[in-house]
Amino acid sequence: MTAHIRPDLATIPAYVPGRNHPDAVKLASNETTFGPLPSAAKAIAESAEQANRYPDNQVTELRAALADFLGVTVANVAVGCGSVALCQELVQITCDAPTDEVVFAWRSFEAYPIVTQVGNATAVPVPLADGHLHDLDAMAAAVTARTKLVFVCNPNNPTGTAHGRAELERFLDQVPAHVLVVLDEAYYEYLRLTPQTRPDGVEIGRDRPNVVVLRTFSKAYGLAGLRVGYAVGDPEVITALLKVHIPFSVNRVAQAAAIASLEARGELLDRTDVLVAQRAQVRDALLAAGYAVPPSEANFVWLPLGANSMAFAEAGAAAGVLVRPFAGDGVRVTIGDPHENEQFLAFATAPENAARFR
Ligand SMILES: *Cc1c(COP(=O)(O)O)cnc(C)c1O
Repeated sequence: MTAHIRPDLATIPAYVPGRNHPDAVKLASNETTFGPLPSAAKAIAESAEQANRYPDNQVTELRAALADFLGVTVANVAVGCGSVALCQELVQITCDAPTDEVVFAWRSFEAYPIVTQVGNATAVPVPLADGHLHDLDAMAAAVTARTKLVFVCNPNNPTGTAHGRAELERFLDQVPAHVLVVLDEAYYEYLRLTPQTRPDGVEIGRDRPNVVVLRTFSKAYGLAGLRVGYAVGDPEVITALLKVHIPFSVNRVAQAAAIASLEARGELLDRTDVLVAQRAQVRDALLAAGYAVPPSEANFVWLPLGANSMAFAEAGAAAGVLVRPFAGDGVRVTIGDPHENEQFLAFATAPENAARFR
């Protein structure tokens, strides 16, 4: 190796692909178990026939469909190669000096510290409060003159916890208007708070130009493999996002599949009801076995196993169930289909395992 590489990248761990056993139940990545709906599969096949042509770099048709669905204008919507790309682009449009700060809760989505460092800015992680929730008061207090961006992951990945609308609005009231706040709602479709308390970033952001909302087709819409997410916000923020967007990074097949899936959303969103019922069953069984599991508003549950987290995940893999450990903190387990969840519970609630890990 002779070429010069930014030395600070040495502190970012090189990507280690997740363990993958062909026969194992995969509950490690918060994916949907089902394949695409027939209408989406058809759109995928048809658009693949035009793979020789560049996609629409403006993502015109999908942005129009999203604007219509959300009750906003096309100028309020940007589409990214997964919402994780939009996370990185949001750092790029707000931070231009190493002293610029990005505030986020920790533990939260693993991409936040990475995109902050890649964007040459300074991460300000704020520990979660009791109950594994964002400590919104501490986050507001962490905002300084150097803060350019705040990520709020609601529901939070990996703990599944969510704040209601009033708490989020109280937080936003404390953040200066020149600081951009990202409400990352990757798991929005799995929220089951009451209509009064339910946080909806698009509604919350309507009269707050410093709020941008991220949602994705990767989770409830089941298109994780195609990479489509979107941002909803003030037209000035959206225009800036389009400037740093990697050209043509939202591919033709992804755009077509997202449009078809948005049209078929009734069926996709019905599936979330089944998942939410399973989520309650899995949590109840874990609680009965003596695990502490916070209530989840997402498509996974969190087991705060501390020092036992890695050993739990290893034992799970040996039992044919892949889950996602976070060393020293806990384990995130995606809710799969009923037989997958049963296989996980058979492992986790077996008396010898519960006694060893909880
Ligand atoms: C899964 C996830 C995303 C979405 O990722 P994509 O890039 O859209 O697949 C974004 N934020 C959080 C918190 C997530 O868990």
